[in-house]
Amino acid sequence: MQNMIFKKPPMPEQQPDIRATNFKEVALGYTREIAMEEADRCLHCKNAPCVKGCPVNVPIPDFIAHIKKGEFQEAYETIRLQNGLPAICGRVCPQETQCESKCVRGIKGEPVGIGRLERFAADYAMTEGTVSAETAAPTGKKAAVVGSGPAGLTCAADLARAGWDVTVYEALHTPGGVLMYGIPEFRLPKAIVQQEIDGLKKMGVDFECNMVIGKVLTNTNPELAQKVAEGAMTEAEASVSYDYTWPLVMLACLGVAALFIGLYLKVVDRKKKLGLELPSIAADKTEVDESEMVAEDL
Ligand SMILES: Cc1cc2nc3c(=O)[nH]c(=O)nc-3n(C[C@H](O)[C@H](O)[C@H](O)COP(=O)(O)OP(=O)(O)OC[C@H]3O[C@@H](n4cnc5c(N)ncnc54)[C@H](O)[C@@H]3O)c2cc1C
Ligand code: SF4
Repeated sequence: MQNMIFKKPPMPEQQPDIRATNFKEVALGYTREIAMEEADRCLHCKNAPCVKGCPVNVPIPDFIAHIKKGEFQEAYETIRLQNGLPAICGRVCPQETQCESKCVRGIKGEPVGIGRLERFAADYAMTEGTVSAETAAPTGKKAAVVGSGPAGLTCAADLARAGWDVTVYEALHTPGGVLMYGIPEFRLPKAIVQQEIDGLKKMGVDFECNMVIGKVLTNTNPELAQKVAEGAMTEAEASVSYDYTWPLVMLACLGVAALFIGLYLKVVDRKKKLGLELPSIAADKTEVDESEMVAEDL
């Protein structure tokens, strides 16, 4: 009989007294049993409104049907048809405003935990199953992808799967973009991002780090530009054309910023002395979200 419980099973988490002592991921992920129980809440709607809410059109009812039957590897492979980064999306994709916001079960009760099930399937493939590295027959075409954030990684995955020879150029010393340096470890472990990147490497994608396109690699040298277009540039060759404009501009910006901060502190100090109300500085949305999350847990 269909599971008609209104709520998703809660996500297993580190206990507060334990997580206060480490920076590891707080959410632990569904077990097999919980995942199968939650998959049984899906109604397998004919018109699948959840899929329309997904930016990459993951065949959601199909992968959930596999989980319901205990076919976890098949569930992962079904997701991979449309999404090259399921372990990441299952953790940090805003499902509540996308697929889950359209879920029919959400009309009366909580929507199906699509994100949690996606994470479960991806984690299963990484730990107990196999991460597919299948690609189409080589097309003989080369592609250069600039930047290795989620946009670049997705682009590289799609092209590699279609048989292209892909090189990703990354300005920083490590690939991943904001996934690596922005989202905190307790929400998205770096090891998970690295595993997804390693999956792309297995598909034949090359990564060239410390490679700022437009600075380290410029189009002023036609030979270099041609190599970029072919995706065949090496770091050693490119470093010849290093341009110092960028560091100088950065230094100038830092100088101006320091001047403004100095002036601001002077104004604050003066207002304090005069007993006036102090202005408040708002943190950005993510910091506010995170401090709220921490405050909630205290
Ligand atoms: C603190 C924080 C938390 C966030 N949390 C979430 C979340 O929980 N869920 C969510 O969905 N989104 C979240 N976001 C937003 C999400 O990270 C971004 O939408 C996403 O990273 C954008 O992907 P991108 O690939 O376009 O860019 P980026 O991730 O910024 O990657 C761009 C990459 O291109 C490289 N690059 C740039 N210029 C060049 C060049 N000239 N040559 C070579 N390489 C270059 C950069 O070094 C970088 O690695 C968060 C963002 C921040 C800052
Ligand atoms: S809308 Fe919800 S219940 Fe319907 S198929 Fe999608 S996940 Fe299942």
